[in-house]
Amino acid sequence: MALIVHKYGGTSMGSTDRIKNVARRVAKWHDAGHQIVVVPSAMSGETNRLIALAKEVQNPPDPRELDMIAATGEQVSVALLSMALQAIGKAAVSYAGWQVGIRTDSAFTKARIQSIDDKRVRNDLEQNRIVIITGFQGVDDDNNIATLGRGGSDTSAVAIAAALKADECLIYTDVDGVYTTDPRVVSDARRLKNITFEEMLEMASLGSKVLQTRSVEFAGNYRVPTRVLSSLTDPLMDLAEEASSGTLISFEEDTDMEQAVISGIAFNRDEAKITVMGVPDRPGVAYHILGPVADANIEVDMIIQNQSVDGKTDFTFTVSRNDYNRALEALNAQQAQIGFSSLVGDAKVSKISVVGVGMRSHVGVASQMFRTLAEESINIMMISTSEIKISVLIDEKYMELAVRALHKVFELEKE
Ligand code: ADP
Ligand code: ASP
Ligand code: MG
Repeated sequence: MALIVHKYGGTSMGSTDRIKNVARRVAKWHDAGHQIVVVPSAMSGETNRLIALAKEVQNPPDPRELDMIAATGEQVSVALLSMALQAIGKAAVSYAGWQVGIRTDSAFTKARIQSIDDKRVRNDLEQNRIVIITGFQGVDDDNNIATLGRGGSDTSAVAIAAALKADECLIYTDVDGVYTTDPRVVSDARRLKNITFEEMLEMASLGSKVLQTRSVEFAGNYRVPTRVLSSLTDPLMDLAEEASSGTLISFEEDTDMEQAVISGIAFNRDEAKITVMGVPDRPGVAYHILGPVADANIEVDMIIQNQSVDGKTDFTFTVSRNDYNRALEALNAQQAQIGFSSLVGDAKVSKISVVGVGMRSHVGVASQMFRTLAEESINIMMISTSEIKISVLIDEKYMELAVRALHKVFELEKE
């Protein structure tokens, strides 16, 4: 007998028929003798609908109130799934995060889980009940409901699995695993049987929305065996076959694993670039520019400072497109103090990254990447690298072209 956490995403919970299928699948695992905790997302489109509703009334919405609204989608899902299980003869009980002690900080709309009290869940499991817990949310120290950011049910599931010391966390979604790149962009993208935790972390944080980045962090920090697999197969398929399907996040770079130099390509369409022109080149420039941006709670990603000419320099950085206008406002408000001559921005840029632990032991990946983009006449605006990834910023118009060309040149479709 094992304790297993299942997570089902929005598409998987997208209609009452799909919810009934989820119930059949969960019942199959329970029938096999396992203790099961299920963490569903809101039905597909529901979180978007709730956020749009809020914005019709107040824009930008108050973050605390927005979370109060956005968290309701998952509450509907858990109860429907519990009912679907009861309807097929299973003992099941649903909870909102706060009812099972999921504590977060107070960063509304992007809260972090701080602790989970497993007592009530363990008690239910011992009574042979299937426990269903809302994804995406918890409560802060003042009992305010807080959500974990878009895609946050992944993080709820892995965090709950960590707290319960579950044997495995199975992330059921609308693709049958983690691919070399988003299969919606490259049709011959290939499913990976394994991906190392480090690669998955890079892929997620560089824009592959198949898993929320923080869920991968939890999986790594607590060594939770985590697998991404399809919810769209026959729910009554052979359990052993299902249990070994999809993509396993592995913690060791063992020898059996696919040893490609590049494992995947991630991209983020929604970037924006800001250049601060003509700043006096003296100690503290970066601090004076990025200080006000950080104070506005805006995350900065890539950064370049140019060589100075006549004591003046230009400083360029990227932010998420959602934060673009606010970043410009924050800088304009400090123009006198920073002493820049003008601001130039471009909110139509995308970032593409190639990721692979094999890069540690291979040279020439960067030059091959840059040559491929040059051959497609795609201009690179910024570059950043780490030990296992290379990212470039390009015009958003060429994003898909670039991903396809790179996928091909690194032969990612090949086993
Ligand atoms: P869920 O609702 O189940 O959480 P998401 O939409 O959040 O599902 O994540 C699954 C989607 O992630 C897929 O439909 C796919 O388009 C996208 N995706 C992006 N990059 C990848 C990748 N490398 N491998 C698989 N899917 C990816
Ligand atoms: N329902 C939330 C969202 O749409 C959380 C999730 O699906 O993971 O972002
Ligand atoms: Mg998701």
